[in-house]
Amino acid sequence: MALRFYNTLSQRVEEFHPARDNTVRLYTCGPTVYSYAHIGNFRTFTFVDILRRWLRASGFGLDHVMNITDVDDKIIRNAAAEKKTLRDYTAVYTQAFLDDCATLRLEVAEHLVKATDHIGDMADSIARLTAGQHTYTSEGSTYFRIASFPGYGKLSHNDFSGNLAGARVDVDEYEKSDARDFALWKAPKEGEFFWDSALGPGRPGWHIECSVMAIKYLGATLDIHAGGVDLVFPHHENEIAQSESLTGKPFSRFWLHAEFLMVEGQKMAKSLGNYFTLRDLIGRGYKPEVIRYLLASVPYRKSLNFTFDGLQAAQMAIERLRTFKLRLDTENLPEGGNEKMAARTESAAQAFTNSLDDDLNTAEALAAVFEYVRDANTFMDSDRFGAENRPAAQRLFERFDAIFDVLKPSGAIAGADEAEIEALVAEREAARKSRNFARADQIRDQLLSRGIALEDTKSGVRWKRK
Ligand SMILES: [Zn+2]
Repeated sequence: MALRFYNTLSQRVEEFHPARDNTVRLYTCGPTVYSYAHIGNFRTFTFVDILRRWLRASGFGLDHVMNITDVDDKIIRNAAAEKKTLRDYTAVYTQAFLDDCATLRLEVAEHLVKATDHIGDMADSIARLTAGQHTYTSEGSTYFRIASFPGYGKLSHNDFSGNLAGARVDVDEYEKSDARDFALWKAPKEGEFFWDSALGPGRPGWHIECSVMAIKYLGATLDIHAGGVDLVFPHHENEIAQSESLTGKPFSRFWLHAEFLMVEGQKMAKSLGNYFTLRDLIGRGYKPEVIRYLLASVPYRKSLNFTFDGLQAAQMAIERLRTFKLRLDTENLPEGGNEKMAARTESAAQAFTNSLDDDLNTAEALAAVFEYVRDANTFMDSDRFGAENRPAAQRLFERFDAIFDVLKPSGAIAGADEAEIEALVAEREAARKSRNFARADQIRDQLLSRGIALEDTKSGVRWKRK
């Protein structure tokens, strides 16, 4: 079966391949950098990371643009309140976002682009929309006239006919199903920061930045546009209206949307005390790879209920995988290979691929790996897992971790320390052999205090990072 995605535009699951030269032109909406991103945001960004990695594993090249929204009402207001320039104000949160992404092992897009670096491009595009009769101005602001774009509503599958005239809003947020013209260029309020342009003083609306930067770096038609489900309307609907009015071509072939994240069954809200940034969770002692695992474990089109029990379960799941991987790498295996085991490894690899090909069904992909671990352990316990079965099993785990990326412990002791750990393990072995159990226990405790656990197996002593 080929790779396929549910396309919000067609409301169908469709087979996917890039339109040109085997490279996927991907655009994803990035953060608005006025505060730290929360775990709901990171659910979407983790989905995008899994998407990137699976596209690459499927043999495609990647050309991915993500925007950084570094100008909007809140940013202008907050920067002014702190008497900072927009740049200085947003630099802090932009860096924090990039640091958080690195912590969660999220790959960086090929083009990470800032709205404020493209003000001229946006002003030019708005002028072209005006030339094409798609805009009108009022009190110094320029608005997109939705009635000038007949396809409006095709992404959100809302029927806006008969509801298009008149009212307009000044802000980037809308009441759902309330179709209104939106600002492309907003005149400054009294004393507010602005850019000078042929459109008059002001600053761009939020929607135009994505259209302009997507087209600039990727061309008129994207292969995939992705984001959170809350962006379908009005943001992505407006991106389509602007982009297709500019180019006359379909803006994106595929639209992928990640569902919401709930916390302990409730919507995340500061007032409910269940609002967490990544930093909050790390501060509570949760390892980044555990958070990553939980965020990735639910297929992106299902809403994810983020719970602390779920984090515990994720921690245990990772432990099981690491324990097996360690056994796989170090077990003294009988010579030769077992045909049934070879077939079992092959079927697990196939199940893993089929699951991710099926609209990134991460839950099934994980299930395939865990069922494999159970069976492989059984084979090893009964000496039916041969040395020749090892490389294929290791390749399966490499393939797994190239996508999920949870096996490597965070903050792992640098490679130079491995020799030191090995030396301590050997010293403990020697102490045990000479029946110096006090010294052996002392070394075990010393290692434990540094997060290294020892395990006595029939193949000898193994150590792993907790
Ligand atoms: Zn966007």
